[in-house]
Amino acid sequence: MKHIPFMKPNLVKSETYMELLKEIDHSRIYSNYGKLNTRFEQEIVTHLYKGEGFASTVNNATIGLMLAIMIAKRPQGKYALMPSFTFAATAQAALWCGLEPYFIDVRAEDWCMDEKIVAKHIEKLGDEVAVVIPYATFGTVADFSYYQHLLDNGMPVVIDAAASFGSTHMGKGVEQSFSGPIVYSFHATKSFGIGEGGLVYCKNEHFIQQLRQAGNFGFSEARESTQMGLNSKLSEYAAAVGLATLKVFKEKCLVRQSIKETYISKMEKLGLFNQGWDYHRTTGEVAHQNVSILCPKGHLAVEIVSMLGEYGVEARTYFSPACHQQSFFAKYPTSDLSVTEEIASRVINLPLWEELVDEEIEYVMEALAAINSVLLGESMHEA
Ligand SMILES: *Cc1c(COP(=O)(O)O)cnc(C)c1O
Repeated sequence: MKHIPFMKPNLVKSETYMELLKEIDHSRIYSNYGKLNTRFEQEIVTHLYKGEGFASTVNNATIGLMLAIMIAKRPQGKYALMPSFTFAATAQAALWCGLEPYFIDVRAEDWCMDEKIVAKHIEKLGDEVAVVIPYATFGTVADFSYYQHLLDNGMPVVIDAAASFGSTHMGKGVEQSFSGPIVYSFHATKSFGIGEGGLVYCKNEHFIQQLRQAGNFGFSEARESTQMGLNSKLSEYAAAVGLATLKVFKEKCLVRQSIKETYISKMEKLGLFNQGWDYHRTTGEVAHQNVSILCPKGHLAVEIVSMLGEYGVEARTYFSPACHQQSFFAKYPTSDLSVTEEIASRVINLPLWEELVDEEIEYVMEALAAINSVLLGESMHEA
C-alpha cells in the first residue's frame, strides 16, 4: 500500500542562501530590521505589489494579527467580528487585544464571511464592534470592496490573508480591492514557507510605521516606549530564507495550481460532482496551501478521512471543528452558523505538496471513488 502524506513542506535548500548567511556573518547584524530584512521587504513591495504600498515583516502571522488589530481597533469597542470558519489564531489574536470574538457565518459559495450578516451585526451592535476581521479563505483573492467601504466609513478592518501570499487575480492580490492592513503567514506549511514568519501589507504608510514601532517594544526613535508593544521582528536568518524563496516562488505557485486542477478534473471525470461531492471555489490564480472538497450531504468528513487513512492517504478536516466548536471559544457570541457547521461537517483537505505526482493524485482519487461506492451502497440500504 502506498503512503501519501498530507503535506511534505519543502523549503529552499541551504545552498540557495549560503551567500546571504555569509553576509550575516560579515555584517554581524542578526535582527532589528537589518539589511536582509530590508531587502526582503523591498523586493516584496517591488515585485509582488508593483512598488505600491508598504510592508513590514513580522515573526509570524498571529503576532501580525495581534499588532494590526491592536492598532486598528476602536478603543471603546468590545467585539471582533470574524468568521468561525477560520484558524484559531484569528480568535486568539483578538483575545490578546482585549476583544471578544463574535463569530459570523460564511457564504456557501466561497466560504468567506457573509457580508450581509456582517452588515446586520454592525447595525445591531453599533459602537460595540471594535474591528472586523474577514478571512481570505484558503488563499482566495475574493472581492473585498465591501470591507473597503466599511474602512472608508470609519470601521476598522484587518484582513487575515494568511494563506493568500502569492495568490493573484488579474495580476493583483487581495490588495486590489482593499487598502487597509492585510496579514500573511510564512509558516512552513503555507505556500510561501520560510519556517516562521509573516508580513503585514497596507497602503497606508503611517499604519505600517505604527506597526513596526509596536513590534519593537513600542519604542520611539529615542528608544522610549510610547505605546503598547511587543517583539515581532524577523531575524536576518529568516529573511535570508525569504529572499531565496522569492526567487523560486512563482514556480511553486504554478505547481500548486496545477496539482489542484488535476485533482478537480479527476473528480469531474469520476463523476463525483454529480454524486453530491463538491469543492471550494476560489478566485484567481491561487497559491494553494491545500485542496478542499466537500463530501456528500449526510456523510461525515471525519469518517471519510479515516477511510482514506486505510488506503494510506492522509487527509485533514480544516477548519473542523470550526472556532465556535472549540471548547475555549464556545462561550463567545455568534450569528446563526448553519453554513459554517454544514461545511465543517463535510470538509476534507486532500494531500498537497510540490513533488506530488499525477500517479499519486490518481491513487488518491481511486481511493475516494472506492469510498464513494461504499457510501452509495450504504445509502441504498437506507432507502
Ligand atoms: C496559518 C494561519 C494563521 C497563523 O499563521 P502563523 O504564521 O502560523 O502565526 C492565521 N490565520 C490563518 C487563517 C491561517 O491559516
